[in-house]
Amino acid sequence: MAIALRTLDDGAWISVNDSREVGVSDVWILEREECCSCPLSYVLLEGFTDVRVDGTHVVAGTVGRCLECGQRVSIERLPVGRVIDGEFERYDPASIPRVRGVVEPL
Ligand SMILES: [Zn+2]
Repeated sequence: MAIALRTLDDGAWISVNDSREVGVSDVWILEREECCSCPLSYVLLEGFTDVRVDGTHVVAGTVGRCLECGQRVSIERLPVGRVIDGEFERYDPASIPRVRGVVEPL
Protein backbone atom coordinates (compact mmCIF):
# COMPACT_ATOMS: atom_id res chain seq x y z
CA MET A 1 0.00 0.00 0.00
CA ALA A 2 1.35 3.40 -0.94
CA ILE A 3 1.58 6.06 1.68
CA ALA A 4 0.83 9.71 1.12
CA LEU A 5 3.72 12.02 1.97
CA ARG A 6 3.81 15.79 1.91
CA THR A 7 5.09 18.77 3.81
CA LEU A 8 2.67 21.04 5.63
CA ASP A 9 2.66 24.46 7.28
CA ASP A 10 5.44 25.91 5.14
CA GLY A 11 7.71 22.96 5.81
CA ALA A 12 7.16 22.75 9.55
CA TRP A 13 5.76 19.24 9.36
CA ILE A 14 5.96 16.05 7.37
CA SER A 15 2.53 14.60 6.91
CA VAL A 16 2.08 10.89 6.44
CA ASN A 17 -1.38 9.78 5.33
CA ASP A 18 -2.76 13.16 6.41
CA SER A 19 -1.32 12.94 9.89
CA ARG A 20 1.46 15.23 11.12
CA GLU A 21 4.22 12.78 12.00
CA VAL A 22 7.59 14.54 11.93
CA GLY A 23 8.04 18.15 12.94
CA VAL A 24 10.84 20.65 12.94
CA SER A 25 12.29 21.73 16.28
CA ASP A 26 13.59 18.24 16.95
CA VAL A 27 17.34 17.89 17.30
CA TRP A 28 18.69 15.15 15.03
CA ILE A 29 22.06 13.61 15.68
CA LEU A 30 24.00 13.26 12.44
CA GLU A 31 27.39 11.79 11.67
CA ARG A 32 27.96 12.97 8.18
CA GLU A 33 31.05 14.95 7.38
CA GLU A 34 29.55 17.39 4.93
CA CYS A 35 27.22 18.64 7.62
CA CYS A 36 29.87 20.54 9.58
CA SER A 37 33.16 19.67 11.20
CA CYS A 38 31.74 18.24 14.42
CA PRO A 39 32.27 14.49 14.95
CA LEU A 40 28.62 14.29 15.88
CA SER A 41 26.34 17.07 14.77
CA TYR A 42 23.31 18.02 16.81
CA VAL A 43 21.14 19.63 14.19
CA LEU A 44 18.07 21.61 15.11
CA LEU A 45 15.79 21.35 12.10
CA GLU A 46 14.16 24.53 10.87
CA GLY A 47 12.21 23.39 7.85
CA PHE A 48 11.49 20.56 5.44
CA THR A 49 11.76 21.28 1.73
CA ASP A 50 10.50 17.95 0.42
CA VAL A 51 9.77 14.39 1.44
CA ARG A 52 9.79 11.17 -0.52
CA VAL A 53 10.23 7.44 -0.28
CA ASP A 54 13.71 6.23 -1.14
CA GLY A 55 14.07 2.48 -0.96
CA THR A 56 12.92 1.46 2.49
CA HIS A 57 13.46 4.91 3.98
CA VAL A 58 11.29 7.98 4.05
CA VAL A 59 13.76 10.76 3.37
CA ALA A 60 13.36 14.50 3.68
CA GLY A 61 15.21 17.51 2.37
CA THR A 62 15.74 19.83 5.28
CA VAL A 63 17.66 22.79 6.60
CA GLY A 64 18.79 23.46 10.13
CA ARG A 65 21.62 24.56 12.34
CA CYS A 66 24.26 22.62 14.24
CA LEU A 67 23.91 23.41 17.92
CA GLU A 68 27.54 22.55 18.57
CA CYS A 69 29.25 24.91 16.14
CA GLY A 70 26.39 27.09 14.94
CA GLN A 71 26.89 26.24 11.27
CA ARG A 72 23.82 26.26 9.06
CA VAL A 73 23.34 22.96 7.32
CA SER A 74 21.33 21.86 4.33
CA ILE A 75 20.57 18.17 4.08
CA GLU A 76 19.27 16.63 0.88
CA ARG A 77 18.46 13.23 2.26
CA LEU A 78 17.64 12.91 5.93
CA PRO A 79 16.06 9.54 6.68
CA VAL A 80 13.20 10.38 9.04
CA GLY A 81 11.51 7.01 9.12
CA ARG A 82 10.65 3.92 7.18
CA VAL A 83 7.62 2.11 5.89
CA ILE A 84 6.90 -1.36 7.22
CA ASP A 85 3.87 -3.21 5.90
CA GLY A 86 2.37 0.07 4.76
CA GLU A 87 2.80 1.70 8.17
CA PHE A 88 5.10 4.63 8.81
CA GLU A 89 7.62 4.16 11.60
CA ARG A 90 9.40 7.33 12.67
CA TYR A 91 13.09 7.20 13.54
CA ASP A 92 14.25 8.49 16.87
CA PRO A 93 16.12 11.75 16.19
CA ALA A 94 18.30 11.17 19.24
CA SER A 95 19.68 7.84 18.07
CA ILE A 96 22.76 7.94 15.90
CA PRO A 97 22.25 7.10 12.22
CA ARG A 98 23.87 3.68 12.48
CA VAL A 99 21.29 2.76 15.09
CA ARG A 100 18.55 4.00 12.81
CA GLY A 101 19.74 1.39 10.32
CA VAL A 102 21.21 3.92 7.93
CA VAL A 103 24.45 2.39 6.78
CA GLU A 104 24.66 3.63 3.22
CA PRO A 105 26.57 6.82 2.37
CA LEU A 106 24.15 9.71 2.62
ZN1 LIG B 1 28.73 21.36 14.05
